Amino acid sequence: GLEVRDLVKKYPKAERNVFDGISFDVPKGQVLVIVGPSGSGKSTLLRTVAGLEPIQGGTIALDGDVLETGKPGTEKAGRSKRPSALRTRIGMVFQSYDLFPNKTVLGNITMAPVLVQKRKKADVEAEAMALLERVGLADRADAKPHELSGGQRQRVAICRALILHPEVLLLDEITAALDPEMVREVLDVVLDLADDGQTMLIVTHEMQFARAVADRIVMIEDGRIVERSTDPDEFFAHPKTERAREFLHTFE
Ligand code: ATP
Ligand code: MG
Repeated sequence: GLEVRDLVKKYPKAERNVFDGISFDVPKGQVLVIVGPSGSGKSTLLRTVAGLEPIQGGTIALDGDVLETGKPGTEKAGRSKRPSALRTRIGMVFQSYDLFPNKTVLGNITMAPVLVQKRKKADVEAEAMALLERVGLADRADAKPHELSGGQRQRVAICRALILHPEVLLLDEITAALDPEMVREVLDVVLDLADDGQTMLIVTHEMQFARAVADRIVMIEDGRIVERSTDPDEFFAHPKTERAREFLHTFE
């Protein structure tokens, strides 16, 4: 599983740290959902775990292998210095589908495994088709992104992450930019992945989905953990802290 210990993160020029030492685990095969108000640090957390941002303290480890150790003074380093072999052990899908506009659906999914991992094109294409089948898009393999709905594009983005076989998949508000009628089709894919034992760290504002998909819940605010629970039903029905109660009320 994923182990985050004493994570410290600061942005250049910022007055204070976004995180000043937070810790959590995502056991293998489980789903951790992170909730919290806007600006609380959810996206920053996922980006640091993905290796897109340097960290200034703490460790990020996967099954006991340390992916990254924080170093003070690295605020301006751009991406973290994580080697690509370690980086691909974690996959990420963002709120805004950043598919390559000039490539087909199939081309978008097969590009990284063929060019970066040097896998055989025929094998990768067969696997990509199986993934598209799984998310209900096998008939759109030759379409360009602009010919798809937002929900379809997000399902392609999920396939593009999955074909790299990430041990942990990070999802940052992947339905937030979608029209309501397309949210369901994307969340159903994520529920299916969870059933299949994909380890995931999910940020979402869809509280019913959070309750359904989570094995564990963490609520953060101002870069601090306000409340955590290994019983999502209990967290949503009877939050222990006043702050979590207030936060959950805003969704009713
Ligand atoms: P939202 O729910 O609105 O997506 P969030 O919980 O994902 O919010 P973050 O985007 O992680 O929050 O931001 C956490 C804090 O870090 C905020 O105070 C934000 O202004 C700050 N921040 C985020 N990105 C940067 C950046 N590139 N440079 C400086 N500060 C940043
Ligand atoms: Mg965010």
